[in-house]
Amino acid sequence: MSPGDDEAASRWPAGYRCALCVTIDVDGRYGEANSRPADDTYWISQTAYDPRGTERLLGVLADRGTVATFCWVGRAAEDHPLHVRAAVGAGHEIALHSWDHRPYNRMSPDEQRADMERTMEALARISGTTPVGHKTASWRFDAATHRVAQEMGLLWVMDEPGGDFPYLIQPDTQRPPMVQLPPSRWFDDYTYFVDHVLSPRRTFETWRDDLDVLRDEGGMMNLTLHPFVSGRPGPSRALGWLLDFAIEMGDVWIDRADRMARWELARAGDPRGSV
Ligand SMILES: [Zn+2]
Repeated sequence: MSPGDDEAASRWPAGYRCALCVTIDVDGRYGEANSRPADDTYWISQTAYDPRGTERLLGVLADRGTVATFCWVGRAAEDHPLHVRAAVGAGHEIALHSWDHRPYNRMSPDEQRADMERTMEALARISGTTPVGHKTASWRFDAATHRVAQEMGLLWVMDEPGGDFPYLIQPDTQRPPMVQLPPSRWFDDYTYFVDHVLSPRRTFETWRDDLDVLRDEGGMMNLTLHPFVSGRPGPSRALGWLLDFAIEMGDVWIDRADRMARWELARAGDPRGSV
């Protein structure tokens, strides 16, 4: 055993040497509608598949007894509240993903706060849970975004790919820190099935190799999936195969973002943490 092995063995809960967090961003039509011209009905209408894709991804997760974090756009939750409740009923976490997927770095801090509060109210009312995390739409955040999230008492954000491990951020040093759970363009299904159309098998192989290295090193993988992308028939296999691989390894911690954030807080001696 090398010194690195000791560190990997103590980084995560007993029995685990790395972490896999599956996050599913339910944008509804608002993600594409905010990034393409209004008359681009071809692309915007692709998102009409979101409800069916959500159902398929819920099935992939249920078949393997795994839980995930759903980052839900507030308006999309209002459009399909039964899907939010189905996710909660299956044990998944509900987190903030803005009200209608507009870029936060084009909003004032007050507008960002109002947007997050409105999303929080809708998701709490529909889900019956209290969200504790936020992922910025299209990862277009600015210096105010995480300060606002911290003011709202959130425990985690998933915006900045600052390495392979969770880390604490404290935009306002007078307030308790939050956990940054690093995402990546390379763990985002848009890269594989929208920006480039790759086969599910090649996508799985790329993600499997990522997870294999992170398992050696004791790191963390935060996947970002979208129902109208990874919830399509073939692409859903990429998630299924990755979960099968992770489960077969036997020492990959597959869990929700809030539990990973609370684990990180507990490691730092923060009373909001839990193990
Ligand atoms: Zn999104």
